[in-house]
Parts: sequence; C-alpha cells; structure tokens
Amino acid sequence: MDKCRILGIDVDKVTMDEAVAVAKGFFGGGVHTVFTPNPEIIMLSQKDDELKRILNEADLVLPDGIGVVIASRLVKNPLPERVAGYDFVCRLLDMGFSFYLFGAKPGVADLAAERLRARGVNIVGTHSGYFDDDTEIINDINAKKPDVLLVCLGAPKQEKWINRNKNRLDVKVCIGAGGTLDGLSGNVKRAPEIFIRLNLEWLYRAIIRPSRFIRLAALPKFLISVLKSK
Ligand code: UDP
Repeated sequence: MDKCRILGIDVDKVTMDEAVAVAKGFFGGGVHTVFTPNPEIIMLSQKDDELKRILNEADLVLPDGIGVVIASRLVKNPLPERVAGYDFVCRLLDMGFSFYLFGAKPGVADLAAERLRARGVNIVGTHSGYFDDDTEIINDINAKKPDVLLVCLGAPKQEKWINRNKNRLDVKVCIGAGGTLDGLSGNVKRAPEIFIRLNLEWLYRAIIRPSRFIRLAALPKFLISVLKSK
C-alpha cells in the first residue's frame, strides 16, 4: 500500500472505500491493528518513540482529520481524503461482523451497544475504559470472540493497550477508535452534515465544547513542524 510519511508516521494513502476493502482482508487469520492518527496524535508521537513505532507497525493507518490531509499536501504526497475513525467504524458496523465495545466512561459502551443492537448490529460484549487489570478484560473479550474489538481509551493509551495485548487477543481486528463510543452512544452529537462536507467538523466540535479550542492551537504548530520537516 502506498504511504505518505508525515513527521515520521506512515499514513496509508487510501480513500474510505479502499480502507474498508483492505479491512475486509483482515478477517482471515491473525490479529490486525488499525489506528487513526489525527494531528494531535502525530504531535504526541514526536516525543514518544514507542507510540511512533506502534503506529508504524499497524496494518492500517488512516488520516483522521483534515489537518493530516493538509499536511500530506504540504509534503507533496497528497492523501486522497480524510478517513475519520468514527466514519470507518460506522462502515464496518453494518457489514455483519461481531463487535466488542471497550472504552469510555462507565455506561457509555452499554448505551452504544443498546443503540447498535436495536439496529441489528451484533455486539457481543462491552467494558468501560476505566479499569485496573488488563487480564480480566482480555478474558472477557476472548470468551466472547468478537470479529472486531473497538478500543476507545484516547491516545496514546488505546494504541499502547492494543500493542501490549494484541498477542493475547482472540479477535481479528483491533481498532484504536478514540471518542467513537461517545458518538455511538449519542452522548456526543456528530456535527451537522454541512460542517462535515466542508471539512469543518473540528470547528463545530470546538464551538460546542470550547475546551477543544485549546487543542486546536496545536494545529498550526503541527503544520509548521510538517513544513520544517520537508
Ligand atoms: N477514556 C477511557 N479511559 C481512560 C481515558 C479516556 O476510556 O483512561 C475515554 C474517554 O472517556 C473518551 C475517550 O477515551 O470516551 C477519548 O475521548 P477523546 O474525545 O479524548 O478522544 P479523541 O479526541 O482522542 O478521539
């Protein structure tokens, strides 16, 4: 697969449709990992070699956020489009695979499971993202044998959790999916379609949750770092 290197992270040059097609190939044998770095995660990896290595060893690395797509243009190796983790998960949800939802505050994964089951998705188990012991969770996951494990602990916790435990997991695909369960539970609303189409979802999120404006300040720094790296 063609890749675009952004600040040392190799992001796959795929459209959403291509990403879904590649993922379909993961349901044969072995555990596969999918990560969806946004500018914040790529910046985090600049000071965290372990995170950088984990991302670069993944089977699929998708550009979550228009900032990553802009960065690819700056390094003259354009990614075809933004492939948001949330949207990617939504595409897989309706394909008949079974899922285990792991992460977010207590009750959120259960709420997401309830809503998804109501529309016919096979959710085989849930666990909140606040825990002390990996083994208890792994035992539950392995008893339920999902095709897909969503790990929604925020970065870099989810990437490190998946990397630390992937050889003990009886699943086919692990996805580090950030705030996806908050979205699927309905607790956090997705931006209106017009914002998504104009690539302004980040602006909408910052408006409804002003604490996000602070996180947005990282974007110019990210783009400047990308330009300097050329
Ligand atoms: N979270 C968790 N365990 C932790 C820390 C965070 O389950 O120890 C969850 C948190 O409740 C939220 C998600 O991880 O549901 C990360 O959300 P955020 O919006 O920060 O994710 P991102 O913006 O990275 O997608």
